[in-house]
Amino acid sequence: MKRSHFLRNTVLSLSATLVLAACGGTQEATTTSEDAASGPWLVGTEPAFPPFESQSDSGELVGFDIELIQAIGEQAGVDVEFESLPFDGLIPALQAGTIEAAISGMTITKERSETVDFSRPYFRAGLAIAVDSEDSETTSLENLEGKTIAVQIGTTGAEMAGSIKDAKVTTFDSAPLALQELANGNADAVINDAPATLDAIATGNIPDIKVVGELLTEEFYGIAMPKDSPNREILNAALNELLENGTYDTIYEKWFGTAPVGTLPETAF
Ligand code: GLN
Repeated sequence: MKRSHFLRNTVLSLSATLVLAACGGTQEATTTSEDAASGPWLVGTEPAFPPFESQSDSGELVGFDIELIQAIGEQAGVDVEFESLPFDGLIPALQAGTIEAAISGMTITKERSETVDFSRPYFRAGLAIAVDSEDSETTSLENLEGKTIAVQIGTTGAEMAGSIKDAKVTTFDSAPLALQELANGNADAVINDAPATLDAIATGNIPDIKVVGELLTEEFYGIAMPKDSPNREILNAALNELLENGTYDTIYEKWFGTAPVGTLPETAF
């Protein structure tokens, strides 16, 4: 405090930025960044959702979400650590305050927004129907009435499947397990986020399935935080900076092979 007074009084003509730059490395500079964001952030993720998050052969977390949150942490000057959790355990962990944030291809929904806060949207996705590649009859939701649909527990896809008349919904802990059930011939369809299903097909991870029809929804992913988290503004500011300075585009292209299409809205709804 004393030293910053001294600085203020002696370098009156300098802008705040210059003052900070001038005393970079001194106690004030450190205190300022600590006040802004106290790390590390423990970030929860369900690591079976490529290309957003998965585990490499050596057990390391990789994916679009992983690199994005690491870049956000770097931008904000905060260390990021990860905790792997089941998808339906992420919101309870945020509510319990055992993690600072969750990044897990999580759709910003009104219902979830009642219990957690989200960052601004960082990815545009949507649900799609996957069926056996030989299936020429299923093209829309109506065709799924009375059918067996495999889904990942706690997801927007599971909710959509639950709304289909007479459908038998079977739930799995991860999207790849639901897709495998379809490939094994034990389900008629899967309702899952299109980018994740398309990745499973493109990589050959799940053979002999295809995506049919139009996207069922438009959804935006957000980084979830506990309600009224002090980190929300810091995280959003860092994310906005990455969207503007090209870092976001670089990470996007690495994981999706193309530049992002269109711009993201500032809010999901
Ligand atoms: N986007 C979907 C949801 O939020 C699925 C997320 C996931 O499986 N990781 O419910």
